[in-house]
Amino acid sequence: MKVTSSEIVISAVKPEQYPDGGLPEIALAGRSNVGKSSFINKLLNRKNLARTSSKPGKTQTLNFYIINEVLHFVDVPGYGFAKVSKSERDAWGRMIETYLTNREELKAVVLIIDVRHKPTKDDIMMYNFLKHYGIPVIVVATKADKIPKTKWQKHVKIVEEELDLAEEDSIVLFSAETAKGKEEAWGAIKRLTGV
Ligand code: GDP
Repeated sequence: MKVTSSEIVISAVKPEQYPDGGLPEIALAGRSNVGKSSFINKLLNRKNLARTSSKPGKTQTLNFYIINEVLHFVDVPGYGFAKVSKSERDAWGRMIETYLTNREELKAVVLIIDVRHKPTKDDIMMYNFLKHYGIPVIVVATKADKIPKTKWQKHVKIVEEELDLAEEDSIVLFSAETAKGKEEAWGAIKRLTGV
């Protein structure tokens, strides 16, 4: 995909703030610090468009980006931050659930996990939640540069097994360092959005 333009549209916390226009959307989810911003920036050829906004105390918003005027990326705040209070976690859950379960424009979720480790409980919970609502998922197993090539397939297999990855879902081995998997990720996004 040749990205010619990308910019933030809005940081939203409620449906009235979501953009109109009916463009197809891809949401991006993952635990805090997994490499979600790096993935977004790499796909958009930007240094710093998406920023880590998942630190406790920071506003938790759904950040909508518009790409080539035809597609939205929706950056979902990271999960699994131990230090977040229960009330903050509840608010996060309500906001995410409202978006994921009601947004007609949502075509798929890119679920970013760290290929070095088994998916966490939160990763598995998020995947099962998405499957429960019939939302297509592209699993991006990132930080591939941090393990030797000879171990890639073994790690991918563990991720597939631990998530019990559905037949229709795909997994893309990725590295924001080397750009490995970038075109494959765009291929999966294009297939699911028709852009
Ligand atoms: P976010 O909180 O999920 O948005 O995570 P960030 O994108 O901010 O990344 C967290 C940390 O992991 C940063 O120090 C990144 O430089 C690093 N990181 C992200 N992706 C990769 C990757 O593919 N390879 C390596 N080696 N480091 C990465």
